[in-house]
Amino acid sequence: MSEPSLKSGIHPQRMEFSKFTIILTDRCNFHCSYCSQRIAKRWLDISTVTKTLDFIYPRLTRTCHINFYGGEPLLAFDRIRKTVAYLERLNRQRTRKIHYSISTNGSLLTEEILQFLDEHAFFLLLSFDGWAQDISRKKGSFDFIVSLIPEILKRRRISLETNSVFTSETVGHLSKSIRLIIRLGVPGIHIGFSSQPRWTPSSLIRMKKEIAAVRTSFIEAYERITDIPWVEMTKKYNKAIYRCDAGRDQLALAADGKIWGCFLFPHYFDGRNGDREREKYCFGKVDSFLHDPEAIYARTMSAIAGLGMDNFSTPERHCVMCEEIESCWVCPIAAAFSSRAIGKISLQTCRMTRMMRREKDFLLKGFEKKRRGRGARIKAAGLS
Ligand code: SF4
Ligand code: SF4
Repeated sequence: MSEPSLKSGIHPQRMEFSKFTIILTDRCNFHCSYCSQRIAKRWLDISTVTKTLDFIYPRLTRTCHINFYGGEPLLAFDRIRKTVAYLERLNRQRTRKIHYSISTNGSLLTEEILQFLDEHAFFLLLSFDGWAQDISRKKGSFDFIVSLIPEILKRRRISLETNSVFTSETVGHLSKSIRLIIRLGVPGIHIGFSSQPRWTPSSLIRMKKEIAAVRTSFIEAYERITDIPWVEMTKKYNKAIYRCDAGRDQLALAADGKIWGCFLFPHYFDGRNGDREREKYCFGKVDSFLHDPEAIYARTMSAIAGLGMDNFSTPERHCVMCEEIESCWVCPIAAAFSSRAIGKISLQTCRMTRMMRREKDFLLKGFEKKRRGRGARIKAAGLS
């Protein structure tokens, strides 16, 4: 029987994954002001996790990543422990190199949990908004997180990075927050911008100024920080039309027992019952997926294959008509939180994406200039 062909050239029969995200619960103990996630109270039972892992494990690449996401995943710490123990049993022959990661607000981290994360060499992505923490996240949590970071950094096998989100109202705290996080010794910083509340022209100007201030301080500190700690500013993308990677080499198991191509999908579709797009992009409940995985995978991937920049548009034009399309990278799900439709990019997102790209170019060029200058000085010193 001939295999269905997909527009993107994805081979539908080849299910091989380098990343698997598990949302053990979508409950959260914080109520961050910009969070669009519905506060739900679902928990994955461990039998659903283990039967999914029985299917996924043989399809994991030799080096692979198991990610725990929420809600707040540490509310389900007991289940995390059981999931890791189950995976270790499946992997007793050590045929896979499994890297574990977790995204957490940090509030539930205890000595016992830190020890567990250290034993299993977790990558820990700590949600921390710097000086905006007590405004956007939980009031009073700033002091706790600031005192927690050195404790995490003492654990040599935990790799720590932070994830900060700024809004149009808190963006004025961006540059001093980055300076604080660097001072605390965090080696990698992720920055995101919430689409709510709306970005006014003046808040966009403030954002530009803040990013320029960060750039200047990075360049001035070049001799001390030869690596730029702002992760998004250093990511390199080949010039090509960007396509969503969901399902291609990653899957996610949501707290309601459904399988998705990426953990962002259940977050976006939560509460949109009856939305036909939801059915289109979902691989279904674990039991029905496991009944006929090849056919369901092929069908769902043919829908996801359409999620490329060449199919997206802003209210002003189709992205395919844009001269910047080959260097533009927009996550369709993140964009849909503000445009309210997958494939549509709001003007605000388009403008912010362009601005970030320009700032990234300035920063990388500034660093490159410093690097060349230092190279020339070393050469001159060696010759003298
Ligand atoms: S583009 Fe967005 S939805 Fe697609 S895989 Fe990346 S993060 Fe997930
Ligand atoms: S810059 Fe805007 S219009 Fe151009 S490809 Fe990106 S999102 Fe589309």
